[in-house]
Amino acid sequence: MKLAGIEAGGTKFIIVIGDDQGKVLARSQIPTTTTTETMTQVIDFLKKHEFSALGVACFGPIDPNPHSPTYGYITSTPKTSWRHYDIVGTLTRALPPVPVFFDTDVNGAALGEYYWGNGKNINNFIYLTVGTGIGGGVMIDGKLLHGTMHPELGHILIPQDLINDPFPGICPYHGNCLEGLASGPAIKSRWDVESALDLHASHPAWDFEADYLAKAMTNYILCFSPERIILGGGVMQQQQLLPLIQAKTKQLLAGYIENQTITSIEKTIVLAALGQEAGNMGALALARLALTTTL
Ligand SMILES: [Zn+2]
Repeated sequence: MKLAGIEAGGTKFIIVIGDDQGKVLARSQIPTTTTTETMTQVIDFLKKHEFSALGVACFGPIDPNPHSPTYGYITSTPKTSWRHYDIVGTLTRALPPVPVFFDTDVNGAALGEYYWGNGKNINNFIYLTVGTGIGGGVMIDGKLLHGTMHPELGHILIPQDLINDPFPGICPYHGNCLEGLASGPAIKSRWDVESALDLHASHPAWDFEADYLAKAMTNYILCFSPERIILGGGVMQQQQLLPLIQAKTKQLLAGYIENQTITSIEKTIVLAALGQEAGNMGALALARLALTTTL
């Protein structure tokens, strides 16, 4: 059975045709410009293929609530052409009728890990990507958590040691939220480098990074009681980070939680399995979910 997935990103759209095991059979990449220009090309590509369901994994914020009048819309993005844009409506009006599932790119990636990656057979976990931005998905009892919209795990506020790190942060909304302090662009800005990759593994940058991420892990563990936290994104490709985050998280929890999550912290906080394919496979995962979901 063939599925179609759209990974709608801020700089590019990737459209894939694949199977229900996440295998990509055909793929196209289109730059994100104006809604008309980009969406015409997306629809042209999809019309050339047959598929049984469509998954749309979209940059946010979005309205994924099927009962809302603005369901299927991209909402308050700084990208003006896409602000309050009915992306799902545009697709369903242009394409043959198939089930559609619309969610954030990070919820797509979380679902991809659930079907085919390190979240397999784990019904309570958190997926967090640390890259250009920080965002995540929360799986509870085998279902993605939405609430009124969707969680925004990257914009949580965490304690900052302003004496050792007076960096004001780069989030345009909150300044020093987690994304403002610990995303790839935040690292670049704080240390004034072209790329975070220019910083040696022993640079103090990574200790700060691990510290902020461990504070976030601690909050997520306390709020959601996950069996696992899966970390993806470009920043997490720095090999030295994971062990630092694991150790600091354990330290921050300070023995308050005494269960397997904490005693086997190396099994609890792990790296993502899908890597660069998280977006593609995430969109296909949403298409697979569309087949079994009645809106
Ligand atoms: Zn923020």
